[in-house]
Amino acid sequence: MTYAIGIDIGGTKTALGLVSSGGQVLSKTSLTTDLSLTPSDMVYKIAAAAKQLLSGSGLQESDLQGIGIGAPGPLNTKLGQIAEPPNLRSWWNFPVVEAFKRHFQAPIVLENDATAAALAEKWLGAAKAADHFVYITISTGIGAGIYSHGRLITGATGNAGDIGHMVIDAGGPLCGCGQRGCFEYIASGTAIAREASSLLGRPVTSKEVFELALSGQDAAMESLVNRVFNYIGIGCVTMINTLDPEMVVIGGGVSQVGAPLFDAVRSYVKRHALNPSGRDTLIVPAALQQDAGLIGAAALIHTHY
Ligand code: ADP
Ligand code: ZN
Repeated sequence: MTYAIGIDIGGTKTALGLVSSGGQVLSKTSLTTDLSLTPSDMVYKIAAAAKQLLSGSGLQESDLQGIGIGAPGPLNTKLGQIAEPPNLRSWWNFPVVEAFKRHFQAPIVLENDATAAALAEKWLGAAKAADHFVYITISTGIGAGIYSHGRLITGATGNAGDIGHMVIDAGGPLCGCGQRGCFEYIASGTAIAREASSLLGRPVTSKEVFELALSGQDAAMESLVNRVFNYIGIGCVTMINTLDPEMVVIGGGVSQVGAPLFDAVRSYVKRHALNPSGRDTLIVPAALQQDAGLIGAAALIHTHY
């Protein structure tokens, strides 16, 4: 048995865990990603927490196979740096791998968080048997991890799969990236809450929007939700037409709505995927909701991706 530390750095919290090569989370903890600290100071806190996890399990750094880090994109895994993630502004261009190297001798690997989550689904989750699949997370934003021909497709700098900024509706609203109608700007949990709040004239969460829509009492919410399901269907068809996967795994907070979303997406794919076999692509929920981020980060060490 070998051990890895998986660290999932997010805009609001950083989750980390000690994970065995068998995929067991032996211990875990989480810290608020305090954006008022310098990234170096935040890394110091994360490293201290990781050392505590080790000593708490009676292990030493020499027992570690390595440390895997998942972080939001854009990043540059070639340089070991965070690049320009919108919700981690104070970390822009921060050499995160080098910063962790000041605290640990073990090998350190960095990949973007959606890519790491895809690897977790391959290792222990819904895509264990698949050689070709796409993992899509629909949460605060939208991202994807691509696994093809038995390996992760990371791209040259670790940014492959950033489908959140694939244009779905070129006449749509203006996204922060400067394009109109980006997938994430019109179909993420943030987008659903923003659109619904403006329609209803009061702040609502995406969870409430689904409740209102599915109760059949609010036609405007019903039509908003159907539009979003359609956008997610379009996103899936584009990935299916591009990559010819066996399976699309959908995770992230918004996927918790369950059957209504999966039924709508399967039906869209059945009607619109170009390749007849693509129309039958399995569309399944992610199996690892809890701890997916830190397990994916640890998988960067434990699996040969
Ligand atoms: P993060 O983006 O930080 O990884 P999540 O994956 O939990 O976090 O996604 C958060 C988004 O998912 C929010 O927009 C939230 O409103 C939405 N969400 C969370 N739970 C549900 C749910 N049960 N039904 C619908 N939307 C949800
Ligand atoms: Zn965009």
